[in-house]
Amino acid sequence: MIEFSQRVQRTPRYPFSGAHDLPEDMVLMASNEVPDAPLPSVVAAIEATLGKANRYPDPTNHALRRALSDRFDVPAQRIAIGAGSCDLLMACGDVLLEPGAELVYAWPAFSVYPYLEAATGATGIRVPLNEQHEHDLDAMLAQITVATRLVIVCNPNNPTSTALPLDRITRFLEAVPRHVCVLLDEAYCEFNTLDDPDASVDLLAKHPNLVLLRTFSKVYGLCGLRVGYALCGDGRFVEAVDRIRQPFFCSITAQAAAIEALKHQDVIAERVERTVVARVELESALNELGIEPAASQANFCWFPLPEDGPDEAAVVKGLADRGVLIRGGTGQGREGFLRVTYGTPRDNARFVAALTQTLGR
Ligand SMILES: *Cc1c(COP(=O)(O)O)cnc(C)c1O
Repeated sequence: MIEFSQRVQRTPRYPFSGAHDLPEDMVLMASNEVPDAPLPSVVAAIEATLGKANRYPDPTNHALRRALSDRFDVPAQRIAIGAGSCDLLMACGDVLLEPGAELVYAWPAFSVYPYLEAATGATGIRVPLNEQHEHDLDAMLAQITVATRLVIVCNPNNPTSTALPLDRITRFLEAVPRHVCVLLDEAYCEFNTLDDPDASVDLLAKHPNLVLLRTFSKVYGLCGLRVGYALCGDGRFVEAVDRIRQPFFCSITAQAAAIEALKHQDVIAERVERTVVARVELESALNELGIEPAASQANFCWFPLPEDGPDEAAVVKGLADRGVLIRGGTGQGREGFLRVTYGTPRDNARFVAALTQTLGR
């Protein structure tokens, strides 16, 4: 019998959405994806790489870092690329954490954060969200000790959809000791209308301990290709995460698709507009069912199920039986809640109809 490491035993299983073995007409609202297929020009860029697949990708991701550097006015030496931003998230754990070190994050937040402590043997400290399902930054600050190496702030937060205004984040950063890395997970920042999504980039100049984690998986709609990036306050972070990962983590296809996708900011703006419309429409549909969702700044909503109705498992199943796949809160850290990704207007209408029936209204 082979023997597995402690790490395997410590590591939880990722709660998959179950979206890959389903009837064709199922509405997929479980993974915060956008419903749009890649743009024709992005598909063309992808296809152009396929005939070169006998060659390794550029391990420095030079062209993509250059494109991101031009877009955000951050030097390329301070930009890290990953095979999805989760690759950078795990790498961040590997370069900062070890047994005896501490990691602070809010809870519920992104279901991948607990993997960092499992992978490294560090101690994870979870700080409950406030009543509005938002990060409680003062409570997080109070958890920082000499052992703290990393604090993660997810803004907007997955699974609760809420965001904090940038001035609150700014004050937090000013209070965090310089030896602590602050990872601001901005996977959904483009959907946030509280602040200009690019305003946080200005914080990098003042805070070398800051890392902004972003992705092509969400508003850019390329999650199937796995490409994300980090804008960093210190180039040494980029060197560190590059040193500990396998050398060719981002495929030529993913790099080319990301570079092309960045050129179409008009399409990104349209997707954000559609999201804001869905946000308002779904909120009023939920209100009519007596449900109060959290204040969403993302492309999904988060809400408690009515106490006098069927429980979470029954609702998740009732929706699936009616062709709508969503996430129950239990796998996301809070029982009795649902997380629902906005789809097309037709998807959203199907969800509302299915929920109305499932709740027996
Ligand atoms: C989806 C998501 C990511 C991005 O994952 P990728 O690996 O880039 O696909 C990162 N953080 C949060 C909070 C997310 O919800």
